[in-house]
Amino acid sequence: MLFSDIEGQNEIKQSLKKSINDSSVSHCYIFEGPNNMGKYDLALVFAQSLLCKNFVNDPCNECNDCIKVNTMNHPDLHVVNNDEKTIKREDIDNLIESINIKPYESNKKVYIINNCQDMTPQAANTFLKTLEEPPKDTIIILLTNNINLLLPTIISRCQVIKFKYVDKNEIVKILIDKYNIDEEKASIVAYYSKGILNKAKNIAIEKDDLFIMRSDIINVFDKIIKSDSYIIFECENYFEEKKVNIDIIIEIMMIWIRDVSFVRNNIENLVINKDYLSLANIHAGGMKTDDVDELIQYLQSVSENIKNNVNYKLAVDKMVFKIQEVFKI
Ligand SMILES: [Zn+2]
Repeated sequence: MLFSDIEGQNEIKQSLKKSINDSSVSHCYIFEGPNNMGKYDLALVFAQSLLCKNFVNDPCNECNDCIKVNTMNHPDLHVVNNDEKTIKREDIDNLIESINIKPYESNKKVYIINNCQDMTPQAANTFLKTLEEPPKDTIIILLTNNINLLLPTIISRCQVIKFKYVDKNEIVKILIDKYNIDEEKASIVAYYSKGILNKAKNIAIEKDDLFIMRSDIINVFDKIIKSDSYIIFECENYFEEKKVNIDIIIEIMMIWIRDVSFVRNNIENLVINKDYLSLANIHAGGMKTDDVDELIQYLQSVSENIKNNVNYKLAVDKMVFKIQEVFKI
């Protein structure tokens, strides 16, 4: 892989490259940022660059080290990939044992620890001792979606690299240029991705089913406002099935209600779901009031109450009735 294969995060890429060229690589990094920001991919390219024999501004992708990193077979690259389980003391013990052995093929060893916030306290304490006296030939890259869960003593011994949300316009441009997505869709995808490039890509190539969910939810909303109270039973089944995604469902509904309100108030340029404009027009005709702020706030509170374990069925029933109080066609 090359640095140029990874989109966005240009400042970080430049500073990592510079550190290799200037021989000012730190012995421990923390890559911090939400999931899907490309932390792991960038850690891997950085590791490859550190191990590559011909690095100039990118790894050469041709030497033995590059080939072995690309096939995840390099004996001096160690990845602790815990897949959302905790990282236990014995995982760190194994890591420390290998840290103290000389590199096999390269003159350095690189460790990537994914989800390092999931280290148990015992594991973190053991790890801390390694950071106090790190072997010179070792570079450790810790990846985390929540730096606040790490021991301050670990943070203070690492160089923290904070991944930034990618600007919406940059995401739109990448989706158009590299993924052949038309501008309207790219702009909708960029909005829903909330600045997380990999999420945008996954939505665009339908690896993330957000667009399917969105059309389901808009259809359910359509049914709710076209029906009488009996629809509640149908909705109950739908919401029960989608319980794990209720947060995102409510969020999509709030965005939809806001869109419909924009249409009603003739500010269509602010609409997010532009591909549903004709339906938004129909729903706007069914609004009993010009002001949907109260309904949106209500939906927000439903989302919060569900997190606090209120009766789920009752909460979604009330939400359906509340929507029917404001919309009817
Ligand atoms: Zn190489």
